[in-house]
Amino acid sequence: MALTETYTLSNGMEIPKVGFGTWQSKDGEEAYQAVKTALEVGYRHIDTAAVYGNEESVGRAIKDSGIARDKLFITTKLWDLGTTEDARAALDESLEKLGLDYVDLYLIHWPNPKAFRPNFAERNAAVWKAMEDGVKNNKVRAIGVSNFHPRHLEPLLEVAEIKPVVNQIMVNPSDQQEEVVAFNKAHDILTEAYSPLGTGKIFAITELADIADKYEKTVAQVVLRWSLHKGYLPLPKSVTASRIKENADIFDFDLSDEDIAFIDSLHGKAGLARNPDEVNH
Ligand code: NDP
Repeated sequence: MALTETYTLSNGMEIPKVGFGTWQSKDGEEAYQAVKTALEVGYRHIDTAAVYGNEESVGRAIKDSGIARDKLFITTKLWDLGTTEDARAALDESLEKLGLDYVDLYLIHWPNPKAFRPNFAERNAAVWKAMEDGVKNNKVRAIGVSNFHPRHLEPLLEVAEIKPVVNQIMVNPSDQQEEVVAFNKAHDILTEAYSPLGTGKIFAITELADIADKYEKTVAQVVLRWSLHKGYLPLPKSVTASRIKENADIFDFDLSDEDIAFIDSLHGKAGLARNPDEVNH
């Protein structure tokens, strides 16, 4: 089953190459059904976050799937950059909501929320300590970051005893984040591609439809295949059963070098690029 293909992380762990996104999947039936369908279709990697407010529904779907825990890869994320103690408590709360003894991957969700912007490096170092404790206490198998640019990662790498294994950032043909991707690569950090479909905006790039027709695939499948071709780990989200299946059916074709080059040239096309320092969380 292609959905079980993995990348190997810098700590030796295997991570399924496609993850199932759950941002904006409403807590309750919507998130529950989406994750349940995804697990039935064959996804084994689920991406959630404390701030999505749906960890309980995601956890319920995982439990009801009956799939052995060690066959799943579950990620959640820490929102507040409070004290080390706050971060320890936040991890326990996420585990409680998910109904799990451990998560496979725990990420700092955002490097510099507005309230902590002047001292983000110090805040990230404090919560990283709690995340490292999570690894030592077997509550977490791997730790990483999200929305980190090199200026956020550099100070963290200086103090980290356990290195981040992934950096989850927005990457899609419209926002290719070349500088961050290159930094990740140079530090053996896997790039997880969030909003791989531009939160639905990628479909506005009409040229992608011609490529999709050529392969008898959909635009979503072509864009996700491009993401894999680049060595990223895409996290498509959908609450629609047919799309959940469609987004998983991307392992039976390859894009030509010419088409990859064309998609590479689409950077900026749907106007999605953003800078974490300008997002006022
Ligand atoms: P995506 O880029 O995955 O796009 C999802 C949107 O596209 C939804 O509106 C969905 O509609 C629609 N869609 C999905 N598949 C198809 C398809 N085959 N054809 C047509 N439309 C489709 O969006 P997200 O921004 O949600 O990103 C994916 C995941 O990445 C998130 O869910 C989350 O897990 C993660 N993420 C992480 C962030 C971070 O800060 N770390 C930030 C943002 C996202 P519908 O659901 O109605 O089917």
